[in-house]
Amino acid sequence: MNAAPPFRLDGKVALVTGASRGIGRGIARVFAQAGADVALAATNEKLLNEVAGEIEGLGRRALALRVDLSDPAAARGLPARVHSEWGRLDILVNNAGIAAKEPLEEITEQSWDDILAINLKATFLITQAAAPYLRASGAGRVINISSVAAQTGGVAGSGAYSASKAGMHGFTKSAARDLADSGVTVNAIAPGQILTDMGRLTPEMEAKIVGMIPLGRLGVPEDIAYAALYLASEEAGYMTGAVMDVNGGILKR
Ligand code: NAP
Repeated sequence: MNAAPPFRLDGKVALVTGASRGIGRGIARVFAQAGADVALAATNEKLLNEVAGEIEGLGRRALALRVDLSDPAAARGLPARVHSEWGRLDILVNNAGIAAKEPLEEITEQSWDDILAINLKATFLITQAAAPYLRASGAGRVINISSVAAQTGGVAGSGAYSASKAGMHGFTKSAARDLADSGVTVNAIAPGQILTDMGRLTPEMEAKIVGMIPLGRLGVPEDIAYAALYLASEEAGYMTGAVMDVNGGILKR
């Protein structure tokens, strides 16, 4: 075999939702470093433009797409916006997500619906709308960012969030079967505790959680981004329907 391929994405077009901050921003940057052009979706236009500037600074094309994924029509329309601009879509990362901390007796129907709408329903709608473009790609990739909470129930008060993320796992496996005939792979990454706005902790909570992590530290967005880079690469073409745990070993104790 020749020298090992370093997971390049040259010539690929990626769409990353929730790319204005946190994990999505990290994924967008790493994909651009690997050679991809990246479409960035979120609600905050100012932050999106900032990330687009970073991508362009890396020598790649960027497309800032303002979208509220709680609107089903807007979510469904996202892949076509990328395709009409760049004529292809190879990699979809369903990363946008919201969380709430509500004990079971306090979860309102509205909060349940809001969390499920963005974390799970938008993932379905965008993936369905992207499917024709991903099939045409020849090496289409879907990467769903779920959570360790899908397997553990998360911290107290994560009922809707954990359910949405567990739903993503079932959807990932089912979509993997449905798209396999075109060589499109569909996988999930289940992060542990990552240092972002969503993952912000009090010093006491941080000490407690770090104490539960065999690798002894919280994660950073790049920990997830490099796993996503592997799943997005052509070298990962035989992996589908999988959930990749990237959590410092928290499930292993
Ligand atoms: P974050 O820093 O809060 O970022 C969330 C992203 O989602 C932002 O870019 C936000 O953009 C976007 N978003 C939220 N609501 C949206 C909406 N209605 N329409 C469009 N975009 C929307 O969170 P993060 O920690 O990076 O989390 C990213 C993903 O990883 C989420 O799915 C989360 O559940 C998962 N995860 C995170 C952790 C962790 O510890 N951080 C652990 C496990 C899993 P705007 O604000 O610009 O709309």
